[in-house]
Amino acid sequence: AIEVHGVHKSFGGRRVLDGVSLTVAPGTVTVVLGRSGSGKSTLLRVLNHLEKPEAGHVSVGGELIGVQRHGDRLKELREKAILTQRSRIGFVFQNFNLFPHLTVLDNVAAAPVATGRLPRAQAQALARELLGRVGLGDRTGAYPRQLSGGQQQRVAIARALALRPGVILFDEPTSALDPELVGEVLSVIKDLATGGTTLVIVTHEIGFAREVADEVVFLHEGRVVEQGPPAQVLDHPVHPRTREFLSKVL
Ligand code: ATP
Ligand code: MG
Repeated sequence: AIEVHGVHKSFGGRRVLDGVSLTVAPGTVTVVLGRSGSGKSTLLRVLNHLEKPEAGHVSVGGELIGVQRHGDRLKELREKAILTQRSRIGFVFQNFNLFPHLTVLDNVAAAPVATGRLPRAQAQALARELLGRVGLGDRTGAYPRQLSGGQQQRVAIARALALRPGVILFDEPTSALDPELVGEVLSVIKDLATGGTTLVIVTHEIGFAREVADEVVFLHEGRVVEQGPPAQVLDHPVHPRTREFLSKVL
């Protein structure tokens, strides 16, 4: 499970996460909604310690992220331990962030090799398998610039899978895509959702959320103001901010 306890995060005196607590059960899909600036990306980044909270903490699979207990205080982990934790949590970005100078195959094979988990030949075999799974088995030799946005995002998902993470975080994975390419990426994510990986997805694709999410979380000004199954939060929202948001995006 992912457990978020009382997380506060400010930038330059501006409170961006204002006491967020949240539990994500293993193998479930949580969709995070909220208007621009509500703190969605910051929340995802706190989950794998790309941002350090000023107060509160996060644990994944029972292990504290980025910190360890030191008596009754929390002490920052060493960089290497943080990187190890991060390698167990996949992250898929809005703008794919592929390595432009590497082929699709090497983009996916790079992390298992760099982290010493697999020898090159085995990492490439795994990359082929994962690229097949996201429907790109025939494009392994291409470079990112030769692919459509939807194809690049599917490579990014295969790359996240290559470290066999228990958790994958998606930050608006389809918002940079032309509308006709959104479906192919969502269908890959849907397959992951049925495969038992824990997913936390920031997206404005409400139809997708309704279909795939176990839980929907609505963030407003750095607070979780509403949370529950899609049938509750999307169809019978109670909080005025959730209602207002949904009336604009639906
Ligand atoms: P969007 O839907 O536009 O992606 P969001 O909900 O993901 O918005 P965040 O990216 O979490 O929002 O940002 C929340 C607030 O924190 C914004 O006002 C943003 O400008 C600010 N912020 C985020 N990261 C930083 C940073 N590294 N330095 C300073 N301010 C930041
Ligand atoms: Mg964001």
